[in-house]
Amino acid sequence: MTLATVRGMKDILPPESARWTELEGLFRAHAVRYGFLEIRTPLLERTELFARAVGETTDIVEKEMYTFTDRSGESLTVRPEGTAPVVRALLNHRADAGEWPARFFYIGPMFRHERPQKGRLRQFHQFGAEAFGTDSPYADAEAVAFLHGFLAAAGLAGVSLEINSLGDPECRPAYLDALASFLAAKEGELCDDCRRRAGRNPLRVLDCKAERCVRATADAPSILDFLCGPCRDHFHGVESALASSGILFSRNPRMVRGLDYYRRTTFEFVIPGMGAQNTVAAGGRYDGLAEMLGGRERVPAIGFAVGVERLLMLLGEGRAAGPSAEAYLVVATPALLPEAFRRKMELSACGVRADMDYEGRSVKSQFRRADRSGARVVLVFGEDEAHRGAVVYRDMERGLQEEIPAETAIRRLCDREKKEE
Ligand code: ATP
Ligand code: MG
Repeated sequence: MTLATVRGMKDILPPESARWTELEGLFRAHAVRYGFLEIRTPLLERTELFARAVGETTDIVEKEMYTFTDRSGESLTVRPEGTAPVVRALLNHRADAGEWPARFFYIGPMFRHERPQKGRLRQFHQFGAEAFGTDSPYADAEAVAFLHGFLAAAGLAGVSLEINSLGDPECRPAYLDALASFLAAKEGELCDDCRRRAGRNPLRVLDCKAERCVRATADAPSILDFLCGPCRDHFHGVESALASSGILFSRNPRMVRGLDYYRRTTFEFVIPGMGAQNTVAAGGRYDGLAEMLGGRERVPAIGFAVGVERLLMLLGEGRAAGPSAEAYLVVATPALLPEAFRRKMELSACGVRADMDYEGRSVKSQFRRADRSGARVVLVFGEDEAHRGAVVYRDMERGLQEEIPAETAIRRLCDREKKEE
């Protein structure tokens, strides 16, 4: 029996892999425009990092992490998200981060032990960005604008932006009290998980996707009514910066995000009607995280992450991959293989995608393969031509063929490549 992949983990094969590369390229290009530089952190971190950063009572830490004890007895976790590692890296290399604001982006896999379903995997991928060192609402608006620009360039339609503020340690406690008393009265209507959550982390209940919980909390108090002066000013600052950049949004006071580190602004790009997997990208401000992780100073920060699988799913079937070859080399007899092979290597070296058959198939079969390869030019290596140092150059698009010196054929193909670059 052959072995299958681990549940919830997927191979990415061509032609799909080409769409990944394309999307990654697009994200990188946008990141650079907005001043974000790439950071790559290890896949493994000390478990404590996520327990402290993401929060002990979040779904991620409670039940989704891939945690194990390594050979030296240390508890390690395969990263479930990208923000905590980036903050850890920033604290470890504070001196290298340069002047504030420091802006980073990352691309890579994340791991969560969730129930696999459409748009929900155990190894999934995120594009993320984090900006450190500024409190300004313009930084929030800029992160949103970057994400908005990227999603639009990727061709995502029908997406809407929702924003909220979660307040800060000044004003949130009063809201949590109000929410907790509201939930206490609704206890019987909540799902089992939420009955537990209601006491320990009431915000989580607003994030529950169970229909009964959504119904029970329909008229829960709104956090926006509880914001203190500075948080309200910040929220209005974000709203007006977005409005003045022509980015449409709506308020969603129920949006709490699945991680504990958020402060003030949170935002999501959602596709209506996609069920529980409707969030394509999400982010927020997390000014307190660096201190929670042992940093000596307060480092204001704002970031987001895009779910790559969900984005690809929403973009639908992409364009088919281009032709697999530009030139196909047909060999009349196996004795000409060495010469044809040498020429194929020359073509590859100058940037022409060339293909040929190494198995000694009939000429007819080689021509069939040449056709299927989509090659625009077929070079035929025949015995008679070989004596004259020549090949047959067949232009498949124009249906013309001529005998020319092999050197000339190679040069022509390489020049054509250069012209099209
Ligand atoms: P959800 O509410 O859908 O579980 P989340 O709040 O756990 O999402 P984040 O941790 O904010 O998600 O991650 C940002 C994005 O990563 C999500 O909006 C989503 O697009 C994607 N994502 C999260 N978990 C998964 C998963 N298990 N499989 C695929 N994509 C995911
Ligand atoms: Mg989740």
